[in-house]
Amino acid sequence: MKVTEKFSEGKTLFAFELLPPLKGDDIDTVFDTVGRLLPYGPAYINITYHREEVKLLEREDGLLERRVVRKRPGTVGIAAAIQARYGIDVVPHLICGGFSKFDVEDALIDLQFLGIDNVLALRGDNVRGERLFRPAENGHPHAADLVRQIVAMNRGEYLDSELEHAASTSFCVGVAGYPEKHAEAPNLATDIAHLKAKVDAGAEYVVTQMFFDNARFFDYVEACRAAGITVPIVAGIKPFTTKTQLSLLPQTFGVNLPDDLVRAVEACRDNAAVREVGIEWAVQQGRELMAAGVPALHFYTMGKADNVERIAKALFG
Ligand code: FAD
Repeated sequence: MKVTEKFSEGKTLFAFELLPPLKGDDIDTVFDTVGRLLPYGPAYINITYHREEVKLLEREDGLLERRVVRKRPGTVGIAAAIQARYGIDVVPHLICGGFSKFDVEDALIDLQFLGIDNVLALRGDNVRGERLFRPAENGHPHAADLVRQIVAMNRGEYLDSELEHAASTSFCVGVAGYPEKHAEAPNLATDIAHLKAKVDAGAEYVVTQMFFDNARFFDYVEACRAAGITVPIVAGIKPFTTKTQLSLLPQTFGVNLPDDLVRAVEACRDNAAVREVGIEWAVQQGRELMAAGVPALHFYTMGKADNVERIAKALFG
């Protein structure tokens, strides 16, 4: 079932995002997370996609060997396994980075055959250590281009225009939005114009980057509406977990941390106490967002579900 059909049910939905396990770990950790969050009725589950990384390994002769590794493979397999095991709709993430248009087409064919109706279309992060995003050869530079390709397949248009009677896919496509602007965007208005291009290309809903100040989200929704973006906007929530995140999250995701949160985290003796602050903060955020009628809360679990379990119990239990 398409995620957007669920939004029309009117109440705020519970959704969360999982990371595929590190290469070599088994799938039980994923099933354990889903099992813990199942009692709170997740409407759908997102599974992130992780592009390849380049590692420099020192050889015995002292020279450096460049090796391409993918630390968290398995997005499509995990998505299909979850949907088959629990009957919950899944939203695998699909990225431009490292994918040619032909790779994208093949990935979409796999997803369609597996009965997956939803994808989150993203540009993807830069290769670690590179400052600018480089598309793959014959790949897409922006998420809007990826959306266009998916929507074309929904019309039965494949890259090989000589295909006759090609089956139309039927993906519901979501995209990312940034209440505090994407790091590379010159300003918020330009970033919102780029979001509008994704929606005009056929994206049916938006999931936001994490934010810790609900006022930023409400202002963003208002600015999106003023720019003519009418699709549902899902709120992304990440529970705070460690003291180092005080500098790490603003640096990595460009988010602003409210004074009250900073003070509460600074006053904590250890990270166990920070985790408690993070749970309480996320519950407060969630309550206000639900009262405002947001279509869904999308929790970033980062592979550890104990805190999201307690937040979900407070909000959806
Ligand atoms: P885009 O929409 O392409 O935007 C990227 C930048 O380009 C923005 O600054 C935008 O303003 C600008 N831009 C867009 N169009 C144009 C244009 N035509 N001309 C000039 N500039 C333009 N990353 C992963 O690798 N894997 C994941 O699974 C993953 N999941 C995510 C889930 C969510 C909910 C979110 C919010 C992010 C996720 N990311 C993931 C991170 C995301 O890939 C990065 O933030 C990435 O840098 C941007 O992706 P995007 O889809 O927003 O890109």
